[in-house]
Amino acid sequence: MRNFIKRLATRFQKKNKVFPLINTTWRRTNDIIGHEPLFDIKCRFCGSKMVLRFSHILIENVWSWATTKPSNSLGFKCPKCAWFVRFYVEDEPRYLKEIIEQRNGANLFYPRYEEWAEEDKEIEKQLKALGYWGGRDDV
Ligand SMILES: [Zn+2]
Repeated sequence: MRNFIKRLATRFQKKNKVFPLINTTWRRTNDIIGHEPLFDIKCRFCGSKMVLRFSHILIENVWSWATTKPSNSLGFKCPKCAWFVRFYVEDEPRYLKEIIEQRNGANLFYPRYEEWAEEDKEIEKQLKALGYWGGRDDV
């Protein structure tokens, strides 16, 4: 019975017609990033967990294939095969402005290098496989 209700609720939420304002796939984080997914973002090609690479707050003149409403656009990249996806999470302008304030007025946010540095090794491997022989001038 409990599972039945759970399944029914999930199906109901997926359609999301009665309560369209309840976002069942993204959650507000009230921090510098703004939103986080309630699902695992996995690479479509290799299945790896995707890593956040940027968050772009768009409030005015939003024009994209996904939405024209104020939103937080989040970019995720696969650390193994470099596939890139961009999501548009619609939200109230008031909340989006709060995020920008936390970023000292910048509408773009990039995670620190340490959080995605791992992919450099994979890129190096791929470049070598392609015959690239130059080195990096690491400081
Ligand atoms: Zn991948």
